Amino acid sequence: MRRIGIFGGAFDPPHAAHSALVRAAMGDLKLDELRVIPTGYAWHKARPLSPPQHRLAMTRLAFADMPGVLVDDRETRREGPSYTVDTLRELRSQWPDAELFLLMGEDQARALPSWRAWQEILQLAIIYVADRGDWNKSKPRFVAPKVYESRFKRLQMPHLPVSATDIRTRIATHQSLEDLVFESVARYIDHHHLYQTA
Ligand code: ATP
Repeated sequence: MRRIGIFGGAFDPPHAAHSALVRAAMGDLKLDELRVIPTGYAWHKARPLSPPQHRLAMTRLAFADMPGVLVDDRETRREGPSYTVDTLRELRSQWPDAELFLLMGEDQARALPSWRAWQEILQLAIIYVADRGDWNKSKPRFVAPKVYESRFKRLQMPHLPVSATDIRTRIATHQSLEDLVFESVARYIDHHHLYQTA
C-alpha cells in the first residue's frame, strides 16, 4: 500500500521547523512520498498571506533537495478558501488504495474542531502532530473521540522554537535569519523584498 504524507501550510516563508517536521515524517512513517501543499486562501489566518507564487517558489526552494518530497500546487490553483478535506478527497480519488498521513503542528491540531468536516479528515487520513515549543497554548489540546483514537498520533521530533511570524519580524527589523531558513529562501526573500514591514 502506497504511503503518502501531506503537509499543508502557509509557508510564508518556509522555515527550519517545517523541514525538520518533513524529515521526521519521511523517516518515522516510512512514506513513499510526501506532498508539501501551500495553501491558497487561508480562511483561518488573520493576516493576508504573501501572493501564492512567492510562497510556492520559496517552498520549492526549501524542499528541493529532499528525496521523496514534492511541492503540490493544487490549493493555490483552487478557487475560494483552501479546505484540507477537499484536498484529501482529491488525493483519495487519485489513489484509492493509498494510506494518507496528514502532518501538522500542535497549534493546528488544537484548532482541528474548527476545520471543515474534521471527522471526515480523520476518516480519510491518519493525523500525525508535531509538538511546538514556541506556541502560546491558549486553546485546549485536541482529544480525539474514541472512534478516531488510532487515527490521531504524535510525531517524534525535537521542539524547535521557530515560526514564520518571528521570521517576518526579524526581516522587518533587520535581524539575522541564520539557521532559521535555507540560504536559497533567504536570497529569494531578499531579491523580492518580501516582509520589509512588520
Ligand atoms: P505563522 O507564524 O505565520 O502562523 P507558522 O510558522 O505556523 O506560520 P505555517 O506555514 O502556518 O507556519 O505552518 C505550516 C505547518 O507547520 C502547521 O501545521 C504548523 O503547525 C507547523 N509548524 C510551523 N512551525 C512549527 C514548529 N516550530 N514546530 C512544529 N510544527 C510547526
